[in-house]
Amino acid sequence: MTEKLNPFKIAQQQLDEAAAILELEPGIHALLREPMRELHVTIPVKMDDGSVKVFKGFRVQYNDARGATKGGIRFHPEETIDTVRALAAWMTWKTAVVDIPLGGGKGGVICNPKEMSKGELERLSRGYIRAIAKFIGPETDVPAPDVYTDPQIMAWMMDEYSVITGYNVPGVITGKPLPLGGSAGRGDATARGGVYTIREAAKMLGLNLKGAPCAIQGYGNAGYFGHILAQEILGLKVVAVSDSKGGIYKADGLDPKAVSDHKDKTGSVVNFPGAKNITNEELLELDVMVLIPAALENQITEKNAANIKAKIVAEFANGPTTPEADKILFAKGVYVIPDFLCNAGGVTVSYFEQVQNAYDYYWPVEEVHAKLDQKMTAAFHAVHEMAQKHKVNNRVGAYLVAVHRVAEAMRLRGWA
Ligand code: NAD
Repeated sequence: MTEKLNPFKIAQQQLDEAAAILELEPGIHALLREPMRELHVTIPVKMDDGSVKVFKGFRVQYNDARGATKGGIRFHPEETIDTVRALAAWMTWKTAVVDIPLGGGKGGVICNPKEMSKGELERLSRGYIRAIAKFIGPETDVPAPDVYTDPQIMAWMMDEYSVITGYNVPGVITGKPLPLGGSAGRGDATARGGVYTIREAAKMLGLNLKGAPCAIQGYGNAGYFGHILAQEILGLKVVAVSDSKGGIYKADGLDPKAVSDHKDKTGSVVNFPGAKNITNEELLELDVMVLIPAALENQITEKNAANIKAKIVAEFANGPTTPEADKILFAKGVYVIPDFLCNAGGVTVSYFEQVQNAYDYYWPVEEVHAKLDQKMTAAFHAVHEMAQKHKVNNRVGAYLVAVHRVAEAMRLRGWA
């Protein structure tokens, strides 16, 4: 991995920029540049053919000044400790920006789940938890699903941890299936939280979203629910959506149920009856009011940033805009809602799941939505005001809010 692309170096540079503006004390800055703790584990797994395969795994607890660390577990063939460190740092900023009483963590196992049977995956999931069990817990570090891990894997992990402790501990992990203590409203929480931030951005910019055109890149969890909720909550007209095979455009708007049925039948949104096929590149440059990148990182770059016509870019995906493109969009006056604010709805409802597990009492979905709205709206305005005050873009504004909050907790604890 080159220095330039090392995600942990990038995370450290982003912190350095915020630290300079905030004039952070050197001790606090130095502590925030490194994970507080990390564990490297070796997991033996009996494979279906009788052999034993040894997997490497990590769990990084980046900073717990504001509360137990929180962050997903990734099962990925190209997992590296530096990726896990960077993601754990970003979780620290994400939980701080939405002001939930948690720190940041992340875990990963180097494996290829696509080449493993269900039984092998279960044994790996349980083995990983046995290896990190002394390191995690509802009061210390709470994992969740992430790349190639899902509610079923969370269920096995919660069960293994409960077997080790000798009693049921649903609060050790979030993103669980509903019958095992999952939260209502977790399914669409990321998109819903993002949609609330778009609503607030439009208010600040004096834009009327009713019937205004919107384009969405990516049609998975974030993109599909984004389509439904952008229409339902904001009254936006979603004129274009896409997936990895390409995109579709229809000037008078696309119906999410019909597009989703078509995708289920054919494997893609492409060739949707009555719509025109377009490329992912064309989708990003459409003349829309709101653009929602909800697929991959590095989609808006220095090559296409000048052609973006949207007034609001809502980053449901992580890292869709490169730093060079960020500068171009800011200069053009495009209002970017940065990823770790815009997509924080998922972790916020995960936190609600922890609270409900601790109470052993579960909230109706309307209550989850109302509490999520409150958190996202407050976080949006904290970032907006900070960015205006320092005349910086919203991404730097979000860093300033988050780093300030974590540093304040560290100071109060007497860490520096
Ligand atoms: P997903 O796997 O459910 O869906 C991803 C979608 O992107 C799919 O429709 C896929 O076809 C599409 N895609 C892949 N390559 C593409 C390409 N080259 N061009 C256009 N589309 C492409 O994933 P998701 O959970 O919806 O996550 C999407 C993004 O949102 C990721 O960056 C993820 O980190 C971020 N995110 C998701 C959550 C969540 O709760 N799901 C939370 C925070 C952030």
